[in-house]
Amino acid sequence: MAAPHAAPPTTKPAPITLSALHTSILTRLAVALDAAAARLQSAAAGRSTFTSDADLKAALALLKLAPALLPLLQPAPAQASPPPAPNPPPPPIRYQIPLIPKCPLCNKGPGAHWAEDCPENPDRHLTWSERHQIIQEKGIKQ
Ligand SMILES: [Zn+2]
Repeated sequence: MAAPHAAPPTTKPAPITLSALHTSILTRLAVALDAAAARLQSAAAGRSTFTSDADLKAALALLKLAPALLPLLQPAPAQASPPPAPNPPPPPIRYQIPLIPKCPLCNKGPGAHWAEDCPENPDRHLTWSERHQIIQEKGIKQ
């Protein structure tokens, strides 16, 4: 008779985010790499702490990861320092807005409309550029 299956654990482990896992793995690898580098340094100085050939090979294998691992160990910009304050917005450019003079066609204004846009402009059905050209040709001063 088969033993009954064990009940699943009632407490779920705390959810691990991939980001936290990523940080944890990198941290452990970095610590191990640092330790391996220190052991190799000691060995080079004649104070080897390697207990066996396999121990030495494991440390060397870890050190081979360094070129790939070290670039990943850059501190995140957000954690390294607070983001630089954004530059203050440049002062607004003060364009010289042309003031609309009194309309030479209907005498409304100033500020009512350009002569090209005058409701009494007989060329109002034309495009603005055509109306503008006619106004220029007629020598109407705005
Ligand atoms: Zn007008």
